[in-house]
Amino acid sequence: MSEQRSAADSTRWQGFSTRAIHAGYEPDPRTGAVNVPIYASSTFAQDGVGNLRDGFEYSRTGNPTRRVLEANVAAIEKGTLGRGFASGMAATDALLRATLRPGDHLVIPNDAYGGTFRLIDKVFSQWGITYSAAPVSDVDAVRAAITPATKLVWIETPTNPLLNVGDIEALAAVAHDAGAKLVVDNTFASPYLQQPLTLGADVVLHSTTKYLGGHSDVVGGALVTNDEELDAAVAFLQNGAGAVPGPFDAYLTMRGIKTLAVRMDRHCDNAEQVVEFLSSHPKIDSVLYPGLPTHPGHDVAGKQMRRFGGMVSVRVKGGQAAAMEFCARTEVFTLAESLGGIESLIEHPGAMTHASTAGSLLEVPADLVRLSVGIEDIGDILGDLENALS
Ligand SMILES: *Cc1c(COP(=O)(O)O)cnc(C)c1O
Repeated sequence: MSEQRSAADSTRWQGFSTRAIHAGYEPDPRTGAVNVPIYASSTFAQDGVGNLRDGFEYSRTGNPTRRVLEANVAAIEKGTLGRGFASGMAATDALLRATLRPGDHLVIPNDAYGGTFRLIDKVFSQWGITYSAAPVSDVDAVRAAITPATKLVWIETPTNPLLNVGDIEALAAVAHDAGAKLVVDNTFASPYLQQPLTLGADVVLHSTTKYLGGHSDVVGGALVTNDEELDAAVAFLQNGAGAVPGPFDAYLTMRGIKTLAVRMDRHCDNAEQVVEFLSSHPKIDSVLYPGLPTHPGHDVAGKQMRRFGGMVSVRVKGGQAAAMEFCARTEVFTLAESLGGIESLIEHPGAMTHASTAGSLLEVPADLVRLSVGIEDIGDILGDLENALS
């Protein structure tokens, strides 16, 4: 049985954190528990054949802890229908399969997340799906990449790892003119900084592994839409293919979401100071951050984002060797893939997160270093960068 996931009961709260903390769950009427229990149950007793209590029959199809997460993520994205997945890539895979058929085409960023690119280029291509890559910052280039077979325009903004900015409202219009849907991977911004559905996007995707979970302790993904037909197709695959998050993962993700706004503000405060420090550092060639007035996407980011985020990329003077040395010399910044957690992380995209783009159209520069600026004390963060570059 398919469940209702309306976040309507949560929309009475307009404030972001009120929704993040309360949407989807009321204290348990029997015990008063203020947090949803971790329903570690694969199956649910029926009161007569097909007579389900609260719609639950089997946890692949639906689980009470997951259902609260789904309503919550929908509410913080100002959408109505949320679906949880085992990872961001599982959400990506379900969305691509829900929307594309052999012969269809999609447009992707020319600096897409490496895993997204790999799935489309290596797997979906085998099933007759074609793609074109275009810079998300160039509305005309995206329009020009659309063909009569285009069903999806897929964007990230800001992009991972080059922090290019796409104008969500303008790109939604371009996609809709062509009869295609606009997908926004909102992982980098998080719904605290930007809510793509309110700007015309058809569906929002998250790797909840990143800012939503926020503590580098859980892998997960989510999709949010207001489109019931699209949600039904996604739900069919969520159950039919089964890449669902377990109840403990759903709980950890919700635990993270409750503090998203305060964490995000601190990530942004720290990132702004890191940007200022690195912008004047003699060993740094350039700093990529939408908050810089010189960033080509600064005005669009200012229009659609609350603040500019916690991700900063830099191009290091001295090429790949210097970039790798920088990554290896930090101590507060841990050398690791992933992002969006409370701890600062540093990585070399060309050799790590985006290695799958090597030799392709989407290859990232060899002198690029990506920083996920954490919420540690700013003095220690800046001191660490200074030491690592000295
Ligand atoms: C990490 C990431 C993904 C993939 O999510 P997983 O949870 O690692 O599967 C997708 N998009 C972006 C922008 C990411 O950073």
